Amino acid sequence: MGRLNGCLIYDRREAEDRDALGRAADWREIHGALPLPDQREQAARCMDCGVPFCHGGRILNGMVSGCPLGNLIPEFNDLLYRGLDQAALGRLSLTNPLPEMTGRVCPAPCEAACLCGFNQEPITIRANECCLAELGFENRWLPPIGNMGDRGGVAVVGSGPAGLACAIRLRQLGFSVTVFERDDRPGGLLMYGIPNMKLEKAVLSRRVEWMEASGVRFRLNTEVTDIAALSSEFGAVALCCGAREPRDLNVEGRNLEGIAFAVDYLTEATKAAVYGKASSLSAFGKDVVIIGGGDTGNDCAATAIRQGCSSVTQLEILPEPPTVRQVSNPWPEWPRVLKVDYGQQEYIALRGHDPRVYEAATEAFVGDDGATSAVRARVKGETREFPARLVLLAMGFLGPERRLARSMGLETDERGRLKTRGCETNLTNVFAAGDMRRGQSLVVWAIREGVEAAEAICAAAMHTMCAPA
Ligand SMILES: Cc1cc2nc3c(=O)[nH]c(=O)nc-3n(C[C@H](O)[C@H](O)[C@H](O)COP(=O)(O)OP(=O)(O)OC[C@H]3O[C@@H](n4cnc5c(N)ncnc54)[C@H](O)[C@@H]3O)c2cc1C
Ligand code: SF4
Ligand code: SF4
Repeated sequence: MGRLNGCLIYDRREAEDRDALGRAADWREIHGALPLPDQREQAARCMDCGVPFCHGGRILNGMVSGCPLGNLIPEFNDLLYRGLDQAALGRLSLTNPLPEMTGRVCPAPCEAACLCGFNQEPITIRANECCLAELGFENRWLPPIGNMGDRGGVAVVGSGPAGLACAIRLRQLGFSVTVFERDDRPGGLLMYGIPNMKLEKAVLSRRVEWMEASGVRFRLNTEVTDIAALSSEFGAVALCCGAREPRDLNVEGRNLEGIAFAVDYLTEATKAAVYGKASSLSAFGKDVVIIGGGDTGNDCAATAIRQGCSSVTQLEILPEPPTVRQVSNPWPEWPRVLKVDYGQQEYIALRGHDPRVYEAATEAFVGDDGATSAVRARVKGETREFPARLVLLAMGFLGPERRLARSMGLETDERGRLKTRGCETNLTNVFAAGDMRRGQSLVVWAIREGVEAAEAICAAAMHTMCAPA
């Protein structure tokens, strides 16, 4: 267990993010990292609790608490504290095939559930995880997966975190894997959703190169429309196509120009930043209104700031959350408190105020010459107009793309998610994982689903092999 009394000796410390004003001028990652000896001190705070709430992802009051992957947190914390970094990474890799991703973008429900958080600051589990993942790549402790036998071929459709995790686990289990991806680069929302400031794309390329060295084949720019054809070529198919049907806002003026879905905007912005070309949807010189006060809206705000927008307003339909935990929201539930995320911090540093307006219900898009010029909203009983040359709809997703499921003959539930038994869909040997099965969620859940689908495919293959002739 960490250091005896470690949590009493050391305070929680995290690396400072880059200065808000400085970082808003570039697209580089905003998070820093502590020096290794300091990170070991942070690992020393872990108490190796008898009942470690941190490592079991449970849904409490509608939100996850603890790690959905079941990461062996007390074990890797202890090994990191003792300087047994390679062994710590080995423990972490048993349950998490993509720790460099979760170490950067996971909201860390493990920390919300950490027992230290009951009456003081939780352990820096995510930063410890990221530190181990980076040590692994730096020291080449992650050799590519070698020859694990030949259990047959599997097609993975979609290369988001679910598809990547599924492909890795399948290779470890001895399958040959081909990943089909309709975009020009692998990664799904890790590539064209989550901005470079949160997850530098070089981190993703590094993992994809490792996967290629491990024998995973990627077929990019390839949209799968015919499952039957894939099924005849491969023993099993894993569908990991995400939940990309965006929630629309059909109010007056919706047909005006200058209104885009958040993911389309973020995709264009990342392509522009990565390829060094101009974005066709740039916020440069524009007043921007983002509809949706959540994390995606915050990513849009940070992106618009970097593109040189004139102003940002983020309209949120819900009331402003409290700044401190309410009695009705006790530990270890996810704390429902006001969060000032990196984009909002930058806007405050630049303009002196938070871009969010709460209890704002959009009534209409106002336009001139066919293009949007303002958003009209009802705010706390009063009608207000916000100037808007670019409107970004960041209100979440309805589920997987309808046409995909329909054209493939897949059964869906009332929320449009693929219906499965275990991980298998209504089509034999066709499995599903990630947002496509679960609905819009988190990277950590997508990874868990990808691993589970791979194991279900393996179990089905073993069953077929062992069945009496
Ligand atoms: C803007 C934004 C920011 C986010 N930030 C975070 C965050 O910070 N932390 C976090 O935990 N979660 C975050 N999320 C949520 C997280 O990204 C998703 O839950 C996760 O990526 C889902 O993974 P997935 O593999 O199921 O699907 P996706 O990542 O959506 O990947 C699906 C892939 O399938 C491909 N595809 C679809 N159909 C086909 C087809 N027919 N043929 C071939 N390929 C196909 C798509 O092109 C895509 O690459 C964010 C989401 C958004 C939108
Ligand atoms: S994957 Fe997320 S929830 Fe799990 S240990 Fe890492 S940061 Fe915590
Ligand atoms: S709950 Fe916190 S202190 Fe306890 S084992 Fe988990 S990380 Fe360590």
